[in-house]
Amino acid sequence: METPQLSSLYQQLILEHYRSPRNKGDLPDKTVEIHMRNPSCGDEIRLQLRIEDGRIAEAKFVGSGCSISQAAVSMMTGLIKGRALDEADALAERFKEMMHGDEAAAKDRSMGDLRALAGVSKFPVRVKCALLGFDALQEALKQTAGGEEH
Ligand code: ZN
Repeated sequence: METPQLSSLYQQLILEHYRSPRNKGDLPDKTVEIHMRNPSCGDEIRLQLRIEDGRIAEAKFVGSGCSISQAAVSMMTGLIKGRALDEADALAERFKEMMHGDEAAAKDRSMGDLRALAGVSKFPVRVKCALLGFDALQEALKQTAGGEEH
């Protein structure tokens, strides 16, 4: 599938995460694992989180697929580590806003390297690739919330 035309700086950052993904590998002491697929592109990820005291203590993934999907989950795992669950959920919501073309979200510094993916919003087919990791994250948060006593 054709790679969207993004600015070259952002393109480099995406390829750099794709070639040297952060937090890739199995997490033996995970507390939740979510497997997500994007059949339209062939992307696949298994997101593994260790949640302690309402925070994401550790986040790892294994997966395969296009550069957008793998770079997005690499960037995401780096940003969610150490965050409270509601903060991680807020990041996912912010990222979705960016994928729907929200320009303020695209400039939000709290998004870190994820801002490199802002241009993907112009390519609806690829938005699913970028969102795959965050879909897995929100599913993991949902399952975790359901399993905890309130
Ligand atoms: Zn893809």
